Amino acid sequence: MRTVPFGRPMIGSKEKAAALSVLDGPILVHGPRTKAFEDEFATYTGAPAAVSVSSCTAAMHLVYFSLGLKPGDEVLVPAQTHVATAHAVELMGAKPVFVDAEITTGNIDIDRLESLITPRTRAISVVHYLGVPIDMQRVNSIAQKHHLFVMEDCALSIGARLDGIHTGLLGDAGAFSFYPVKHITTAEGGMITTRDTAFAAKLARQRAFGVDRTASERKVPGVYDVTMLGLNYRMNEIQAAIGSVQVTRIPDFLATRRQNDKVLREALLKTNGIQLLGTTDKRFECSPYCVSVLLDGPLAEKRLEIVAKLNARGVGTSVYYPAPVPHMTYYREKYGYGFETFPVAKRISDASIALPVGPHLNMDDMAYVAECLQTAIEEVA
Ligand SMILES: *Cc1c(COP(=O)(O)O)cnc(C)c1O
Repeated sequence: MRTVPFGRPMIGSKEKAAALSVLDGPILVHGPRTKAFEDEFATYTGAPAAVSVSSCTAAMHLVYFSLGLKPGDEVLVPAQTHVATAHAVELMGAKPVFVDAEITTGNIDIDRLESLITPRTRAISVVHYLGVPIDMQRVNSIAQKHHLFVMEDCALSIGARLDGIHTGLLGDAGAFSFYPVKHITTAEGGMITTRDTAFAAKLARQRAFGVDRTASERKVPGVYDVTMLGLNYRMNEIQAAIGSVQVTRIPDFLATRRQNDKVLREALLKTNGIQLLGTTDKRFECSPYCVSVLLDGPLAEKRLEIVAKLNARGVGTSVYYPAPVPHMTYYREKYGYGFETFPVAKRISDASIALPVGPHLNMDDMAYVAECLQTAIEEVA
């Protein structure tokens, strides 16, 4: 039987050699490889500055920490996202104010933003959901009007651009993830991009205890001062060495993702009872993370049966995300959200199946995935 895993890290001989070469030397942290990876990532995205960190969660927390977000402050957060987008706000003692999704793409519903802004609102955070960029022109004009910071969660959007500009450079800061099944991986890891080089320099200090000079900037070894509060959110040299190889592979990975996405979408055209999340508007250059299939009303109730049939035929699936964040127990208990709130995000969580399009798969795999979904739907009908 064919097996089509949902995701698989693409680690090859070059990544292995790069990791080993770090282990052969004496420098495991704050060395040249981290700097090189930051420069390469900045070049790829077009960012004036990029700051490597230990994860995307760390990236977002560090940005809010550096902004000085405090209890009483509010940040608009999409309801349909990874919990990290909200946790980063919550960790500062500030309050995430959740915003429902739009049903066509699953992205934050921009029409709802303005009515949720209060005198306590400090920032708007958005997620380029499943690699579909958000209309940041609209988000930015709302943010500018109310003097708000704009945080882009780019964990699923490496390669995604709006009007030619890479995600993470459209708002005030972008946070990327290099977790194993994301577009590229360093096992764990993250990156912050920003157009503000002074802000990037401050983030770089605060990711390493708030120390005033890096190891290479110290005239006398071991002598430094601490000028601000900071965290230890550094990426290490092994991760960075792997990342440098992965960056060079982004164009190939993306080309395969885009081709798989196209083939799978075309193959699913004839399947009844489903809609595919996404956009065909050419302004929005997507970096497909998966194809999310939204099942129509009656079929949605059979979702788990359909998933079981797909999995039994070797097709890996996932759900993005299993519940709207405000319906997760921690947020529900803390803020008292009922299950009737955020109906669009809830519909996507309850009725969607994420199908793989990653670079570990080819067009034949896509034909197989489409055929298995078609069969599974016929069988449960
Ligand atoms: C994976 C993911 C994160 C978390 O990334 P880490 O690097 O694991 O911290 C955050 N936001 C979104 C949208 C994600 O998909």
